[in-house]
Amino acid sequence: MSARCSICPRNCLIEPGKFGACGARTCIQDHVVHADYGLLSAIHVDPIEKKPLHHYLPGSNALSLGSFGCNLMCRGCQNYSISRARCQKGDGFKLSPDEIIQTAKTYQCQVIAYTYNEPIIWAEFVCETAKKVKAAGLKNIMVTAGYVTQDTAKWLFSDIDGANVDLKGFSEDFYKTWANGSLQPVLETLEYLHSIPNFWLEITTLLIPGINDDPQMLKKEFEWIAEHLAPTVPVHLSAFHPDYKALDIPATPAQTILHAKKIAEDVGLKFVYPGNVRIPADTLCPSCNAPVIRRQGYHIEITGLTGDRCTACQTKIPGVFI
Ligand code: SF4
Repeated sequence: MSARCSICPRNCLIEPGKFGACGARTCIQDHVVHADYGLLSAIHVDPIEKKPLHHYLPGSNALSLGSFGCNLMCRGCQNYSISRARCQKGDGFKLSPDEIIQTAKTYQCQVIAYTYNEPIIWAEFVCETAKKVKAAGLKNIMVTAGYVTQDTAKWLFSDIDGANVDLKGFSEDFYKTWANGSLQPVLETLEYLHSIPNFWLEITTLLIPGINDDPQMLKKEFEWIAEHLAPTVPVHLSAFHPDYKALDIPATPAQTILHAKKIAEDVGLKFVYPGNVRIPADTLCPSCNAPVIRRQGYHIEITGLTGDRCTACQTKIPGVFI
């Protein structure tokens, strides 16, 4: 018998032995399960700045894990070799949660990052690993597009300490035509994550020329963040490069990123960071403008932070720094 998956808003009805739309989940004996539990496509030690998270343990290493598949279908996916691959035996490799923890300790990683492809679709393995990671005294972060049902979010994020959520644009039409998805569930996920006590949230928007960089649309997005989350939620504005089925779209000019940054700051966002371009991405104190963290690529220098306060004026800088 076929079974319906309730992990994400697609609610796929999956025939026995077939895959859901994400290519990662299948139906076995009337139950939807991950097609190959624990299968990984990649493991790397990355600076946490690469996720990107700029206010969460800056300068730390994140042992970064990816699997296969994705529940959104972005035309310009920058990771399509794994996101569009099906999760099946013969690809990738396996590590147990205990082996992941041991590897993190060997490479002096304080953090495990579930990233590269969408962690929501391998939720059960993420949860099992995250629970053990937490018990071992390490931290868990997720890099996700947030396209998940709220029922799933409640158990999926229970042992996750922070996330960077990809808010891809700010209209239902854009989500439908670019990603074959919808915006509203992502907004609900953002509100839910922001409401979890001690959970650290940052947001990334990839600016795609002529597709989602309309100044009015960006203004609405930034106003929504300020109003529904907080003006202190860090926002990363990242440059697109032509990839996958969007080779006809040019790379994002630095000027577009700078213009979007100004729109965000004009609506009151306090921490707006350019990504994938050679524009400074220092953290400045929102009160006295002193540089508290300087960044060059993924290299950082803490120049004006004492604990979680600006050394110059004692303003508390939001984030997890110690
Ligand atoms: S997680 Fe995959 S199988 Fe489940 S509803 Fe979403 S796309 Fe379909």
